[in-house]
Amino acid sequence: MVDNTLSAEIGMRIQKLPSQLINQIAAGEVIERPASVVKELLENSLDAGATDIEVELEQGGIKLIRVRDNGCGIERDDMVNALERHATSKIQNLEDLERVGTLGFRGEALPSIASVSQLRLISRPENSDHGWVLPGTPEGIASGPQPASHPPGTTIEVCDLFFNVPARRKFLRTEKTEFQHIDNIVKRIALSWPGVEIRLRHNQRPVDHIKSAADREQMERRVASICGSGFIEQCLYVENSVSGLKLSGWLGLPTFSRSQTDMQFFFVNRRMVRDKLVGHAVRQAYQDVLYHGRQPAFVLFLDMDPAMVDVNAHPAKHEVRFRESRLVHDFLFKTLQQALAGTQAGKTVTPIHRMEKAFSSTADRQPFQPGLNMREVAAAYTAFYSPGDAGHSLSEQSVSPASSAVREKPESAQDTTSDCFPPLGYALAQLHGIYILAQNAGGLVLVDMHAAHERITYEKLKAAYVGHSVQTQPLLVPETVLVSTLEADLAETHISRFKDYGIELERIGPEQLRILQTPLLLSHADAVQLVRDMLADLASWGDSRRMSDAADAILATMACHASIRAGRLLTLAEMNALLREMEQTERSGQCNHGRPTWVQLSIQQLDKLFMRGQ
Ligand code: ADP
Ligand code: MG
Repeated sequence: MVDNTLSAEIGMRIQKLPSQLINQIAAGEVIERPASVVKELLENSLDAGATDIEVELEQGGIKLIRVRDNGCGIERDDMVNALERHATSKIQNLEDLERVGTLGFRGEALPSIASVSQLRLISRPENSDHGWVLPGTPEGIASGPQPASHPPGTTIEVCDLFFNVPARRKFLRTEKTEFQHIDNIVKRIALSWPGVEIRLRHNQRPVDHIKSAADREQMERRVASICGSGFIEQCLYVENSVSGLKLSGWLGLPTFSRSQTDMQFFFVNRRMVRDKLVGHAVRQAYQDVLYHGRQPAFVLFLDMDPAMVDVNAHPAKHEVRFRESRLVHDFLFKTLQQALAGTQAGKTVTPIHRMEKAFSSTADRQPFQPGLNMREVAAAYTAFYSPGDAGHSLSEQSVSPASSAVREKPESAQDTTSDCFPPLGYALAQLHGIYILAQNAGGLVLVDMHAAHERITYEKLKAAYVGHSVQTQPLLVPETVLVSTLEADLAETHISRFKDYGIELERIGPEQLRILQTPLLLSHADAVQLVRDMLADLASWGDSRRMSDAADAILATMACHASIRAGRLLTLAEMNALLREMEQTERSGQCNHGRPTWVQLSIQQLDKLFMRGQ
């Protein structure tokens, strides 16, 4: 029989959906996983003025989430309403909507959660001598609240999340992953509520106790618990108020930059948001102090009159709309830029180091060689690469096979004097420490040396990784990395994966890792920064993408660390070594970020520029 479900559906009449289904549709928007339930329940407790909150979980929250608070409680007669859709105590009219001061206001969370789980609401307002319990089932709601014993405050119990939505259940990850998401949410929320004490239990064991923070030092402890103590050691505290806007918080120094945007926490009136305008202002402020592609870490709080910001822009309330967006942007940008001025640890014009290898000629040490003709360049090049010569490569930055590649073909180097040029030609000079200028048969070749080197390293790393032959070397002095507990857990889970990449790690404390060994190709990279970035990659890729995508991302991060930075002065020999390696590397025309690594300007194009022969 042919399945005609689709055409049958199209032919159906329009019907009003049952309320259970409406709630399940709403749940689809805001309840993605156990952590989303925890977020909604915590926000309700905070809106109720709680100062003490306990979160209890079983099986990563999939089996049970119980949030108990000492907030204002819910009146017996309001309990049924609390489970009704679009019923809220937080706003009453449009005016209220335009100046929402609470985290919630849509009146959707409880009914949505109740429609995809077994929910129970137990509450006792301060003025009542006992509490009431209401199961979130249609029968429970029909028979109304029953007396129950409960201290002043509210408990909401959510059992068997998605028990009736198999499609959603399928997307749940392991208990451990779901727990990590919850732990993350709890810590994030704790960042913006210093006066609130939160205890977290998982599978009947206490796992976290966030004590209330009375001063900056205690707040910094909270910050360290989510960003790691490495962040706190390398950050600036900022505080600034201008015309009703207040910005405060911690800014990671450029030395604590990351490969991902995973350590960026921005709160608007205590609500965590991921906002485009905010993102833009922050990126701009960091622009001068961070290398291309690096991401800053920060924890920032913007406080302002609720009437100046519209929080009704996104169902999960991740985005906001500022009524004076220009003003907010400029305020953020200026405050942050000023705070960051003077922290330019790695500005691109600083030469990192010059190679001091034993070159016979001094001419090759000159990065700029005016007036050399093609023949002279070729001759000079040949001279530097006499067979058996070692050490003209960028080996100090780990592309040692470069010179051997050239050494293997001394004849071809000889050919160079007879006008037979390799595809990328011979280096003439280095421009502003960023570009290599080379001359080939077609005209001028311009190479972005960092991008090119990155591509070469990437391909080498990848070949070694795929062939399970990453060469490693032990660190003479093992390096210690300060990370967050979450990152340390992640590292522990993936210890064998790190090994596949040539990195040997061990966990030596709740927030400490030790690096024992790194890949040979990366022997000059900053191992600590590298491991931090790889952890960030694993956290953001490991969970959702296919393994091979994750591996590519991680290899790219590694390559970036190993590669020569813009600003480093190269000798002609080094430049030529790089050109030769580019020719031998698959896909060397593009760096790992998809940007080109070199361009050709033909004599014809140059002639055109100068209107020669026109
Ligand atoms: P919203 O938070 O958008 O108002 P919810 O569905 O999350 O919608 O909650 C509905 C109502 O239930 C709230 O407006 C509030 O009055 C009440 N409520 C929920 N949780 C609590 C709590 N922990 N303490 C006191 N009241 C609560
Ligand atoms: Mg709510």
